[in-house]
Amino acid sequence: MNNEYTQYQEDVNTAFDAAMENNEQSKTSGLGHVDVTRNRNHQLDENDPEFIKMKQFAGFIDLPLENLPSAGRFYRDDIKIRIRPALVKEIRNFSMIDENNIQDIDEKLNDILISCSKVTFGDSLGSYKDLLEEDRLYVILSIRELSFKDGENKIMMPVSKKCECGGCADAYELKTSNIQCYTPDESIEKYYDPTIKGYRILTKNYGEIIMAPPTIGVMRAITDWARKKEEENKQWDKSLFQIVPYLVREWRGFDERSIMGFATNIAGWDATKFSIVFKMAEKIKVGVKPEFTYVCNKCGGEVTVPLSFQGGVRSLFVISDISSELL
Ligand SMILES: [Zn+2]
Repeated sequence: MNNEYTQYQEDVNTAFDAAMENNEQSKTSGLGHVDVTRNRNHQLDENDPEFIKMKQFAGFIDLPLENLPSAGRFYRDDIKIRIRPALVKEIRNFSMIDENNIQDIDEKLNDILISCSKVTFGDSLGSYKDLLEEDRLYVILSIRELSFKDGENKIMMPVSKKCECGGCADAYELKTSNIQCYTPDESIEKYYDPTIKGYRILTKNYGEIIMAPPTIGVMRAITDWARKKEEENKQWDKSLFQIVPYLVREWRGFDERSIMGFATNIAGWDATKFSIVFKMAEKIKVGVKPEFTYVCNKCGGEVTVPLSFQGGVRSLFVISDISSELL
């Protein structure tokens, strides 16, 4: 995947260089009154940070943070998320997804993020792992919508419970504008602290507990660790999975040793502290709901639509219904 990405960057660079060359040519082939000094002043310096930045983000567009399920509330203020459409090579890679293998689904979805998203903090480059796990699906759906701009890849989600009048649609389209997300519970929301972009939970006996929704990077580290334990047929404490990701904010350096450190630390907690953290983690839900409710525009009744991918996860980037294109 990395190679493919490098290839994409090279393609962009080539296209960019060609455009620049054209530009230079049109300048110099002017009618003989080219202002040489002016031209020289405007010559592009390959090492100019602005130029490098322009090249790096060619083809990417900004994804507004407020659109995300998290509404961007758990990211640093200087974060920027950019996305671009998936290219054929990425779609080809995605089409090889093994729908029966959760690990493969996870990897293929991440491959899309690796290629088609760019996270920056100020002038430094971040990673897709800095994105919140709860924002992942939304970012992927946004990339998908950029990739199929003309609605040529519609995925319909069948209605599971119709309204009283039965006049509502049989299915709703899976798209970012139809997605519904959890709104944070009031009992945790009161602890939200904008200065730390997370929850500062004050307790009587345990001081402050800082918690936040997990990043993809942290989730990946802990999933890899759990998988390894499973493969080795070793016992592992499944409750760690439920709470540790909410206590760790930085995935860089978060490894097996850190997880073991947490395990030891948590083993020393009393039942009350454990319960507080466990309950709070349950409340920190900001992602896409597994089931949406819409209002029937005829009777005003409620329509229930579970989030589903007809044609499998593959259909996110591989058009399953080609009939609209065939003549
Ligand atoms: Zn109705």
